[in-house]
Amino acid sequence: MKVPFLDLHSTYAELRGELTAAFERVMESGWYILGEEVTAFEREYAEYLGCKYCLGVGNGLEALHLVLRAYGIGSGDEVIVPSNTYIATWLAVSQAGGLPVPVEPDARTFNIDPALIEAAITPKTKAILVVHLYGQSVDMDPILEIARTHRLRVIEDTAQSHGATYKGKQTGAMGNAAGCSFYPGKNLGAYGDAGCVTTNDDELADRVKVLRNYGSRVKYYNEVKGYNPRLDPMQAGLLRVRLTRNDEWNARRRRIAATYHAGLAGAKSLTLPHVPEWTDPAWHLFVVTHPQRDVLQRKLADEGIGTLIHYPVPPHLSGAYAEFNSHKGRYPLAERMAETVLSLPIGPHMADDAVEYVMDRVHKACAEL
Ligand SMILES: *Cc1c(COP(=O)(O)O)cnc(C)c1O
Repeated sequence: MKVPFLDLHSTYAELRGELTAAFERVMESGWYILGEEVTAFEREYAEYLGCKYCLGVGNGLEALHLVLRAYGIGSGDEVIVPSNTYIATWLAVSQAGGLPVPVEPDARTFNIDPALIEAAITPKTKAILVVHLYGQSVDMDPILEIARTHRLRVIEDTAQSHGATYKGKQTGAMGNAAGCSFYPGKNLGAYGDAGCVTTNDDELADRVKVLRNYGSRVKYYNEVKGYNPRLDPMQAGLLRVRLTRNDEWNARRRRIAATYHAGLAGAKSLTLPHVPEWTDPAWHLFVVTHPQRDVLQRKLADEGIGTLIHYPVPPHLSGAYAEFNSHKGRYPLAERMAETVLSLPIGPHMADDAVEYVMDRVHKACAEL
């Protein structure tokens, strides 16, 4: 049997008729930048999250970048980020001119450890940029409390957590603002690049709206030096279709995650995701750890099972942050994750027999290691 890590074509196949209708609606409208389709998606996604504003942008990195810019965070400012995340989180801070200040994760949830945040705060700190990694919410309450005490903003990176909740609340509607990605492989994925900013902050929403459109409110009158990361109306139309299935498809992911949890519990030396009672993850990824991860990955590949490593190089050791002069051992938890994590296949179109096959082969491989 072949089990691919990701099956994007099935997301198209299941919704073909509706996606085609959305495509034709946008083409027939004769309007190809922003406009009604983008506004409609923004309204629907804000409603889904239960927040006041959603502003469509070109991708997740730009969403985070615009939030930072709109809050005036830039040169000389520090922003607390997780030591383990997709590098885009750090790049958004760097792109705005700020300095990412890494904080290590909780060893069990892999999300930023709220207990370590205060020690990283300096007079230059302006914001805490949290990431709901792998689709599981960060422990928000203590972080919001720290932010109140130190007068910092909380910005959420919701690129992996569409539909994930924290104590019943949607991620992306708890901090001051959030930056989201609709990259095709995400839970709520477009068919190309796309992203958005979500917030309840009137002033921020207004600034992001101006910044994403060349710094202009009225065509050819530019108040500030803006950017051009607008959400494509075609992607907005396709996302509107996908949004109607997000809960159902997340439910399918949750069923697979529950099956994995029950079925893989006894696998030798394998650690399964730890889920605290206050979160209902969206299961963007199902990440296990194993001390001999590379061998395990190879054995599964030999059995036709696709897996990925999220992520093999922590940002502080990547070439992009060579200026940090980081030595190995500087952020040991992030480094240990890079060496031991393995993402098993999970998705709304994964068949039951594929899930069974993966569990069987993981057991077999672990027993041999
Ligand atoms: C995917 C991702 C991003 C970046 O999104 P793009 O749309 O690819 O720019 C940012 N942060 C995290 C955690 C992501 O997973």
